[in-house]
Amino acid sequence: MKITVIGTGYVGLVSGVCFAEIGNTVTCVDKIPAKIEMLNHGNVPIYEPGLQEIMLRNVEAGRLSFTTDLSSSVPESDLIIIAVGTPPLPSGEADLQYIEAAAREIALSIDGYTVVAVKSTVPVGTNERVNSIIASLTDQPFATASMPEFLREGSAVKDAFNPDRLVIGVESQQAADLLLELHTPLTENLVVTDIRSAEMIKYASNAFLATKISFINEIANICDKVGADVDQVARGMGMDRRIGASFLNAGIGYGGSCFPKDTHALIQIAGNVEYDFKLLKSVVEVNQSQRWAVIDKLLDSLGTLKDKKIAVWGLAFKPDTDDVREAPSLEIVPKLVEFGALPQVFDPVAADNFRREYNHPAITYASDALEAARDCDAICLLTEWGEFVNIDLAEVEAVMHNPILIDGRNVYSADRIKATRFDYHSMGRPSLL
Ligand code: NAD
Repeated sequence: MKITVIGTGYVGLVSGVCFAEIGNTVTCVDKIPAKIEMLNHGNVPIYEPGLQEIMLRNVEAGRLSFTTDLSSSVPESDLIIIAVGTPPLPSGEADLQYIEAAAREIALSIDGYTVVAVKSTVPVGTNERVNSIIASLTDQPFATASMPEFLREGSAVKDAFNPDRLVIGVESQQAADLLLELHTPLTENLVVTDIRSAEMIKYASNAFLATKISFINEIANICDKVGADVDQVARGMGMDRRIGASFLNAGIGYGGSCFPKDTHALIQIAGNVEYDFKLLKSVVEVNQSQRWAVIDKLLDSLGTLKDKKIAVWGLAFKPDTDDVREAPSLEIVPKLVEFGALPQVFDPVAADNFRREYNHPAITYASDALEAARDCDAICLLTEWGEFVNIDLAEVEAVMHNPILIDGRNVYSADRIKATRFDYHSMGRPSLL
């Protein structure tokens, strides 16, 4: 199958590479020339484990190429996948300007029957909008489809090749047949449905996962007060198959380019049809206040943060990615600065992206976790990177001025902490105080 993927971000690039790997001929298009130049030199503009190797293999095999000019591949393509960003507007609604621009550009180049599938996360009704934009600009035959993406940054390659399920929203059998042919090598769990339901499945899934996170975080806050251990509670809950064990890790809440944006967008989508999504509004509120638990715990331990050196371990919104969009670090570090602290920050790959979003002379960028902890009055662990989880805590304690550890992700066991002199605070595990 000949495929054009528009947008070479986390979703577009990973999907393009994946579809090439299973034997299709894929052209990835981006409007940013620097990205395409990097890709054409064999470099991946994002950090995603395992991606570069498969990408290079497929470029070498002649199945994968990169361009800024969609008109070079669109006329030949059986399928065009739109994977551009849908960032939030100030109102919380998804900004559809990139989707609409892509639809216009596609319309000017399609030649013969083509399926145009939207992989970006878009509000219900967007595919109809794409359909009408294309129809207004061309008389070539085409069908639109919704193909929402569920991959997770950090494990995107694994997720692309082993999806739990794939959702295909279509209005015609011809489009369904093409998309089934494309996806069948990847999974048998294919949900074929109408376009509006497919669009909604994506928002409902992310909203539900966000709800699980805020739920366990509130349970953690109660555990802190009643002397229960949230890890044990989550373990006991998760063994119930109706509940499931995933997304029950208490901590400082979710971030990233999807959950915050998609929860806000769904609240807005509901609001547009005069439905007040009270539950989801609370999920968002809980997530926001959860971030301040780190600051509260620091203030409880140190009294004041003025002139205190605070190590910040982890800036990415989660491990194994360089993505800092809506990361807790982008609120917590400025708050530390506001309180007069001197943050010594370290992240294995996300420091440059963080610095582009927020910088301040009070911040020192350390070259590793131990360097960040040197002479500090406390450490805040914000991202559960393996190198923080597996670090020798005795070595860390030895370089600190004051061994206080605020573990925002509950990564250390009681046994490991008991072997140290750390004044240790985690989320909802008061017995480990
Ligand atoms: P991104 O911002 O990393 O990448 C989008 C890319 O599209 C950019 O490189 C941009 O230059 C390019 N682009 C925009 N308009 C273009 C045009 N007209 N022609 C060519 N290129 C264009 O975004 P992302 O994280 O890959 O997310 C894309 C979509 O997928 C969003 O709707 C997002 O909500 C959704 N999604 C993201 C994830 C994730 O983990 N990142 C997971 C599931 C779904």
